[in-house]
Amino acid sequence: MIPVRAVSCSISKGENIMGECIFCLIAQGKIPSSKIYETDSLYAFLDLNPVHKGHTLIIPKKHAGNIFDLDPALGGELVSFMKKVGRAVMETTGATGLNIYQNNGRSAGQEVDHLHWHLIPRFDGDGLKLWPQGKYDSMEEMNGLAEKIRARLS
Ligand code: AMP
Repeated sequence: MIPVRAVSCSISKGENIMGECIFCLIAQGKIPSSKIYETDSLYAFLDLNPVHKGHTLIIPKKHAGNIFDLDPALGGELVSFMKKVGRAVMETTGATGLNIYQNNGRSAGQEVDHLHWHLIPRFDGDGLKLWPQGKYDSMEEMNGLAEKIRARLS
């Protein structure tokens, strides 16, 4: 198996040399991972490049590229799974907090095109800040944007 970060030709990140999805292969047990927990539908394993040790990834076993491809029927089971795994990660690492985040698309930082959630143990005073926060120019701008988004939902 060629490590994801060692591939420097035309292969997409998140695929092996055969063009197969790395996380599908992990879920199928065809390439090794540090497994944490699994059910029939979900699989949790340690991230190779942890923000903090214990950084865990949760994936659906059935391939979905990003959140927009996920079967909503998995929602309830996913939340229970995240809570169970998240609690175990916190208790094991002694974390005082937990970030759960998920990237969709290259511009959002997604490198592996198989939906996954990052569970990152956090510690008081660890100094990590995920991203800077900005401001709207005015309340009109903010309310106008909310109105445009609402219009797409009606
Ligand atoms: P993202 O940027 O949200 O797509 O995150 C992809 C994550 O997958 C990164 O944090 C990588 O360190 C992690 N990763 C990639 N390949 C593997 C692997 N084979 N085993 C464990 N983690 C991996």
